Amino acid sequence: MRYDFIFSGMGLSSLMILHKMIQSDLCSGKDILIIEAEKEKHNDRTWCFWEKGEGRWDSLLKKRWEQAYFVADDIKVNCLKDGYEYKMLESKSFYDLVLNEISQNDRIQVVHEKMVSFSEKEDFVWIVTEENHYEANYFFNSVLNKSEFIENIRYPLLQQHFAGWFVRSESAVFDDNKAVFMDFSVGQKGNTRFMYVLPVSAREALVEYTLFSPDLIAQGEYEIEIEGYLKSQGIAEFTIVAKEKGNIPMTAYPFWNKNSKRTLYIGTAGGWTKASTGYTFKNSDKLSDRVIGRVKVGKIDFRDFKKAERFTFYDSLFVKVLFGENSIGKNLFTGMFSKVSPEKILRFLDEESSIVEEIEIIWACPKWPFIKALFKK
Ligand SMILES: Cc1cc2nc3c(=O)[nH]c(=O)nc-3n(C[C@H](O)[C@H](O)[C@H](O)COP(=O)(O)OP(=O)(O)OC[C@H]3O[C@@H](n4cnc5c(N)ncnc54)[C@H](O)[C@@H]3O)c2cc1C
Repeated sequence: MRYDFIFSGMGLSSLMILHKMIQSDLCSGKDILIIEAEKEKHNDRTWCFWEKGEGRWDSLLKKRWEQAYFVADDIKVNCLKDGYEYKMLESKSFYDLVLNEISQNDRIQVVHEKMVSFSEKEDFVWIVTEENHYEANYFFNSVLNKSEFIENIRYPLLQQHFAGWFVRSESAVFDDNKAVFMDFSVGQKGNTRFMYVLPVSAREALVEYTLFSPDLIAQGEYEIEIEGYLKSQGIAEFTIVAKEKGNIPMTAYPFWNKNSKRTLYIGTAGGWTKASTGYTFKNSDKLSDRVIGRVKVGKIDFRDFKKAERFTFYDSLFVKVLFGENSIGKNLFTGMFSKVSPEKILRFLDEESSIVEEIEIIWACPKWPFIKALFKK
């Protein structure tokens, strides 16, 4: 049997595309297969993103903030100006929404198998799992092949690695009107290290210790830092309700060069993760709209789906700078947030800024590391 569409991986990007295909009635009469290695979907990540006003995912939100602070030494800036809000949703609520939609369509099948390879033929894609093989007219691949970009000299790999505790306190210790986007008051230890705090109520918060660095640290170290940070905020009595950890690749590697007529790399595997921030949710939202546009038109060819543009260049430079001199992150971000109005920075990170705004932002960063990285290019 040949499927119309096959998805490898049933995570954010695949489910986002499937949700929109179902909503746009693009699945009726189509046979669709999802190949997912894991047996069950857990509440395995908390997704946050900024957005102005009402948005498409509002009904799933666990919390939204009108204030989110950048903190370092003597500066504290609310990053949410000009109508921006910071929004948070738990992955489980998103998975449940889409899995429920999928269960109502008997031509969408899910198999729990590990994909091992695929190859594009003249008029179909051949996909091999550990147990079976399948054929598809079009194939969406979200399985990340790390060996492609680890130790790539041209595109250095920074990692956004973090561990977080969901903590609950008996007393009201958090101000749940205020999230902390980046708190650089923690020791840098030669890296770019900061704390991220998302209070969902006066008694509960997600507190994450995050690094942008080439190498990981021991699991115990993240936890010592979280405990120390909570103490420094006067929070000594709390219970750890749950834990989260992650490692998001920050690389300007052009994943999209492998897109072909019938195969589209999606999610992190398709370069949908912004290299300079690790944020993927909003990009997945934008780029899945582009996928739907192509599927609607009917004549699908994914070869030109995504290309390098000026923001790819900025991301690549940023990663190179922090990879080469990992300790300057705090100065770099402090320079930006103390000299440029935050809504411009958010627009820049959303790749919606003007060239004039981009020059202003680049000008606010330490110049010498960027000049060196530029010449290294
Ligand atoms: C803890 C955590 C928190 C994050 N927080 C944010 C955030 O706040 N904001 C944001 O924008 N981004 C965030 N991210 C980054 C990004 O949004 C997520 O990593 C996102 O899930 C990436 O989507 P994806 O579709 O590429 O991959 P995934 O959602 O990881 O989906 C890939 C799927 O493929 C399956 N799979 C893997 N190998 C195989 C195989 N060989 N065969 C079959 N199936 C396979 C996996 O089991 C998985 O289900 C976070 C990431 C993590 C880990």
